Amino acid sequence: MPISKDFQQRLSGSLPSIVDHYGTPFHLYDEKGIRKTGEALKKAFADFDGFREYFAVKALPNPEIMRIMRSMDFGFDCSSVAELQLSRQVGARSEEIMFTSNNTSRLEFEMAEAAGGSILNLDDISLIEKLPRMPELICFRYNPGGRRTGNEIIGNPIESKYGVSHNQLLDAYRRAQAQGARRFGLHTMLASNELDYNYMVETARMLLDVIEWLSEALSITFEFINIGGGMGIPYRPDQQPLDIQSMAQEIGTAFDQFKGRHGYVPRLYMESGRFITGPHGVLVTRAINRKEIYRTYVGVDACMSALMRPGMYGAYHHIDVLGKESTEETVDVVGSLCENNDKFAIQRTLPEIEDGDILYIHDTGAHGHAMGFNYNGKVRPRELLLRMDGTVELIRREETLDDYFATLQFEPDKLSI
Ligand SMILES: *Cc1c(COP(=O)(O)O)cnc(C)c1O
Repeated sequence: MPISKDFQQRLSGSLPSIVDHYGTPFHLYDEKGIRKTGEALKKAFADFDGFREYFAVKALPNPEIMRIMRSMDFGFDCSSVAELQLSRQVGARSEEIMFTSNNTSRLEFEMAEAAGGSILNLDDISLIEKLPRMPELICFRYNPGGRRTGNEIIGNPIESKYGVSHNQLLDAYRRAQAQGARRFGLHTMLASNELDYNYMVETARMLLDVIEWLSEALSITFEFINIGGGMGIPYRPDQQPLDIQSMAQEIGTAFDQFKGRHGYVPRLYMESGRFITGPHGVLVTRAINRKEIYRTYVGVDACMSALMRPGMYGAYHHIDVLGKESTEETVDVVGSLCENNDKFAIQRTLPEIEDGDILYIHDTGAHGHAMGFNYNGKVRPRELLLRMDGTVELIRREETLDDYFATLQFEPDKLSI
C-alpha cells in the first residue's frame, strides 16, 4: 500500500482548498502519520533499554519536521554541516546527534565538535589522525566486505565507498583507545529501502558478533550498536509493509543470547529516514498540458526539481488524480525539463487526465524535496505540513528566480598570472 487510507481520505476532502490557497506544486506532509509511524517504531522496540532512533535528516531536512522528531525523543543522523546546523537549531545536542559522514573534511569535524558536539561515527581508519581531538565516545562504520552482501540497492559492500574494512576494524578501535577513547559504538548500513525484516535481523546479529570479537580482543565493552537506516516502505500497491514487530522480536532474541554470554547488552540504535516520513508526504501538482504523439504525455507543473527518484532511480511512485478513479488510459506523466528522464511515471494506467486536473504523487515524504535540484533553472516547490488539528502550515516557501540568481551577485575577483 502506498500512502495510508486515512491520509488519503483527509487529503481528498481538503486538497481542493489547499490548492486554492497555496497554488501548485507543493509537497504536503502529514504530521499525524509521521507521529503514528514514529510511535509504532518506539512501541515495537520498547523492550530494548535505551533504544533510540536517530532520524536521518537528509530524508526530510525541515525544522518543523525535525521538531516533531524531537518531541518523540528521536535524535538526528547527520552527514553534513548543514544537517548539523539544522539539528542544533531545533535544540539537539551531543549524544542526540550522530555524525555519520563520508569523505569528511576538517571543517565538518570542527563543526561536529562545536556547539555541543555529537557522536562521531568515523568512516575510515585514517580519520583517527585527522580529528581535532579524540572524543571519549567513538563509533566506526563497519563495511563487512565479502563477509556479507548488501541488499539489492546498496549492492556489494566490496564496491561500496563506505566504512572501515574488516581487516582494519580491530586496529581502528585499538588506535582510538590509545588516543583516549573510553566509550565505544559500532555502526553499519547494508540495506536501502528493504522490506524484508530478516535483513535487519541479520545486520544486528552481525554487529553483535563483531562487538563480541572486538570486546574480547581489546577488553572493552560497547555501549551501542547502530544498524543504520534502509528500512523500506511499500511504494507499490502490491507490496507489504516491513514487519517491525517480528524484526524487534528476532533482534530481541539475538540480544538475549548475547546477554546470556556476556551479562550485558549494548543499546540498539537505528537511523531511519524513509521509514518514518516517506509514506507521509505527497507531491501535489496540476496537469497543464496534454500531448499526443507516439505516446500520450501528461505534462504537469512539477518536475525533477521537486522529486528526483523516478528519473534518477526509475523508482515507482503511485499517482492518483483528485476526484477521478476509473482507470482509462496509459500515459507518461512528465515534467518540463529538457531531459528525457524527467518523468514521474512511464506507461502508467491512470484515469483520463485533462488540463487543470490535480494529481498527487505518493510517498514523497523522504528523499523527495531534499534531493531536488536546479537543473534548467527550475526551482524547488514549497513544503506544507498538515497538522494534527487539520490546519495546514507553510514550512518552506518555494524558491524564486532571485534565489536561483543569488550566486551571480558577487564582488569582482580577478587573478592575473
Ligand atoms: C541515507 C542514510 C540513512 C537513511 O536512509 P533511509 O533509506 O532513509 O532509511 C541512514 N544512515 C545513513 C548513514 C545514510 O546514509
